[in-house]
Amino acid sequence: MADGVRTYQQYIDGQWVPAASGATFPVHDPSTEEVLARVPDSGPADVERAVAAARRAFDEGPWPRSTAQARGRVLFRLAEQVRAHHAALAELESRNNGKPIVEAEADVTDVATCFEYYGGLATKVSGSTNPVPDDALSLSLKEPVGVAGQIIPWNYPLLMAAWKLAPALAAGCTCVLKPAEQTPLTALTLCGWLEGCGVPPGVVNVVTGFGESCGAPLVRHPGVDKLAFTGSEAVGKLIARQGADTLKRITLELGGKSPNIFFEDADFEAAVDGALFGIFFNQGEVCSAGSRILVQRSIYPRFLEALVAGAARIKLGPPLERATRMGPLVSREQYDRVLAYVELGKREGRLVSGGRRAPGFARGFWVEPTIFADVPNTARIAREEIFGPVAVVMPFEDERDAVRLANDTPYGLAAAVWTRDLNRAIRTVKALRAGVVWVNHMQPTYVEAPWGGYKQSGYGRELGPWGLEDYLEIKQVHINLSEAPIGWY
Ligand code: NAP
Ligand code: MG
Repeated sequence: MADGVRTYQQYIDGQWVPAASGATFPVHDPSTEEVLARVPDSGPADVERAVAAARRAFDEGPWPRSTAQARGRVLFRLAEQVRAHHAALAELESRNNGKPIVEAEADVTDVATCFEYYGGLATKVSGSTNPVPDDALSLSLKEPVGVAGQIIPWNYPLLMAAWKLAPALAAGCTCVLKPAEQTPLTALTLCGWLEGCGVPPGVVNVVTGFGESCGAPLVRHPGVDKLAFTGSEAVGKLIARQGADTLKRITLELGGKSPNIFFEDADFEAAVDGALFGIFFNQGEVCSAGSRILVQRSIYPRFLEALVAGAARIKLGPPLERATRMGPLVSREQYDRVLAYVELGKREGRLVSGGRRAPGFARGFWVEPTIFADVPNTARIAREEIFGPVAVVMPFEDERDAVRLANDTPYGLAAAVWTRDLNRAIRTVKALRAGVVWVNHMQPTYVEAPWGGYKQSGYGRELGPWGLEDYLEIKQVHINLSEAPIGWY
């Protein structure tokens, strides 16, 4: 604290503790590049301690044995704390991630809603009776899966923590959460309210550290029953492989290259707006970003012109200013990565907008909203997730062509289709191979509805009852009602 920078501790077994090694690493404000805080640089020893705490809390503690109603109430209290600290949480999120304050505020509201939803859903988990052909009562019971390891990215730091913690807690699981190294601060802040809300020690543990030294030991740990991951396809595949040794249950929410499809009969103004919002909100650091904009050839030139004009009007600015619509990217690493894709794009397509470091900012990781036109779907910038404010625009001829192009990707997280023709909308929705499809909108996400990908965008579903099911095991119970001996000899 000598330099005025706060050093956070991590939360293990209900205690605030440093890393076992005593090491810390800095967390930055991406708009100023200044050090915002320091957090423990945790390694295998810290993961060991956190998993042991979660294991004890699951195997011997009150949480999985409490009533669903009691767990639900705890989640409601957590939601109340989030709402009570709404402004401070949003500001911290905005400072740490660089996202505009208005976006961070919406995220924090969604966090509270997520805890409330799963607080309510906790009491709606029920098993079933099975009509077996014997004098017996056959039951299916739902039970918590056990200790959940949860690894999350930096684009929605607190919201991703809530998507993981809320259903796990409702189910009666205990958790070890590893936030992204870039953005651990809001998840740590949340830990400060756990005890007061009635979460027993060891039920939620948050360890801060890097992927290889802190994430990987969690993935490999035999004491972890389930691993829930959101992040890149590359790390997702690594986790699927490394988790296989202990056959833990794995759910993966990975990236995408989501098509945003515009037919000639779409409401033109709304469509242009939807294309810009679809790719540029949250700086394009969105797993479901509409990064491939497919436009019917008859409206292609006019649409492209409107996109370019619209992109030029997007207000880039300091994250905490309310008028700001795009802040900096999260880190220098991401900034370099995005600009490298822009350079590649100049060889693969026609740059029609942006493509540079945004002018007017002395420091920080600002990239202009960038649009490439006439990009073939085989180009790397059309196939690989850039995870920044970079759109590729390509024309299509007809419905068949649109669907073919849209599905020609290894990913399948999301898609959107814009048209006023109801039959065409429904046909296209059915033909798209994606886990989320929007019609005449892009990006609205609700805790009540399933979220997850087809193909190489991962497996499992978060949110809604599906998100809770993934934290449950099913136990078959057979109760013999017959007094007669089995009589097999
Ligand atoms: P990432 O490397 O997949 O990181 C996601 C999480 O996994 C982080 O907590 C990360 O820790 C952890 N991790 C990294 N390597 C690991 C390993 N070997 N074992 C266990 N955990 C590990 O993603 P990123 O570095 O944040 O961003 C890279 C790219 O991922 C982005 O450019 C984007 O393409 C994609 N991405 C996708 C989403 C999405 O929602 N689908 C979100 C964010 C990023 P560290 O913090 O130390 O890296
Ligand atoms: Mg990383």
